[in-house]
Amino acid sequence: APVHMATFCASILDTMATVAEKKRIALHGDIPEELFIEADEDKLRQILINLLSNAISYTQDGGKVELNVREIQDAEGTEKILIHVTDTGIGIPKKDQPRIFERFYRVDKARSRSSGGTGLGLSIVKHLVELHHGEISVESELGIGTTFTVELPMLQD
Ligand code: ATP
Ligand code: MG
Repeated sequence: APVHMATFCASILDTMATVAEKKRIALHGDIPEELFIEADEDKLRQILINLLSNAISYTQDGGKVELNVREIQDAEGTEKILIHVTDTGIGIPKKDQPRIFERFYRVDKARSRSSGGTGLGLSIVKHLVELHHGEISVESELGIGTTFTVELPMLQD
């Protein structure tokens, strides 16, 4: 069934608001009103919750996390949805960026120990994105922040 992105993202941001508030992290969304995507709602929710949880976990108190959604057309004129999750957090070293989507990979055991994760989140996200014939990528600068971009076809064929 088509998912109305504005309503869907608002409810996810609502879910994450309490954990963001605990760290005084400003959590904002920018989602066009008239945008629908043909996707599995539960899987889409898992993708966004994982990315937003990471963004909040790996950002220091008082930082910012944003969820931005927009529509694009690729070179063949196929309609795509671009989802950006951006934070002002600790960043990911260049050498680790290619490996973070592997199962159990965590950047630095010492720095991420306190968050108590397993290193599975992003491998699951990548799998779910690929089930929708989409792609995921990361851009990050150490000490500045990170943006994860998920590109999904608007319609599944
Ligand atoms: P889990 O999600 O299974 O609880 P996790 O968060 O450690 O554990 P992933 O979500 O797969 O595992 O992320 C892998 C690693 O990538 C993290 O341990 C962290 O080092 C790094 N990472 C992920 N997202 C960010 C981010 N937004 N900013 C900085 N580092 C990140
Ligand atoms: Mg995680």
